[in-house]
Amino acid sequence: MAYPIYLYPTTTSWSMIHLLDIEGTVCSITFVKDVLYPYFLENYSEFVGSTPFPVDPLADELSSILAGFPAEVTQSAETLTQHVLYLVSNDIKDPVLKAFQGIVWEKGYMKGDLKAPIYKDAIEFLNSGKTLYIYSSGSVYAQKLLFLHVDVDGKLEDLTGRLSGYFDITTSGYKQQKTSYENIIASIGCSASDVTFYSDNVLEVKAALEAGMAAKVVVRPGNAPISSEDQEKLDIIYSF
Ligand SMILES: [Mg+2]
Repeated sequence: MAYPIYLYPTTTSWSMIHLLDIEGTVCSITFVKDVLYPYFLENYSEFVGSTPFPVDPLADELSSILAGFPAEVTQSAETLTQHVLYLVSNDIKDPVLKAFQGIVWEKGYMKGDLKAPIYKDAIEFLNSGKTLYIYSSGSVYAQKLLFLHVDVDGKLEDLTGRLSGYFDITTSGYKQQKTSYENIIASIGCSASDVTFYSDNVLEVKAALEAGMAAKVVVRPGNAPISSEDQEKLDIIYSF
């Protein structure tokens, strides 16, 4: 043993972790509202039609997801359809619905019906070599689909290689709760002060701040307006 081994404390701090919301932050809020949600509504019945009723959770991937709905919902195509329409029309962020939407959107992306219009400055940010994570109420599965099919100057590009991880409401909790951000910090294994969270939603930004993260409100065309009080109190950006 010629050389002693010195163990230095790590000098690579996690001080530059960026946690990004999707809708209204890296892509237009209207893509989700005007493209993804309507696409789901126009196409989901085809998937319901191929499901066995009452739902057999062992039948296939879709059935195993749908089996997560309450038993009374999964008895027939009619009860399932009613439940799905109820969740969608009330904008209820239900994890089973989110997973179902992910399946329908996957087919849309595969067929080339769907392409994710990520903002140009967000693409540059993704390509900058920074440590980036995603936190969206859309399922992790749907998040990956989106970043697998990014519209870059009209060409499809896979940007999943730029991301270190994904969080959703099933992995971490609801986005307006402080504990969700604490769960993310624990999952990454860093401290809160190492992370900056970006979102169009003021309540999400406040929850992240409460958890000890830095956080910025992202303003994009079509996003909900921000009160003058919040504009004064919060850090606001218009691009990355
Ligand atoms: Mg958002």
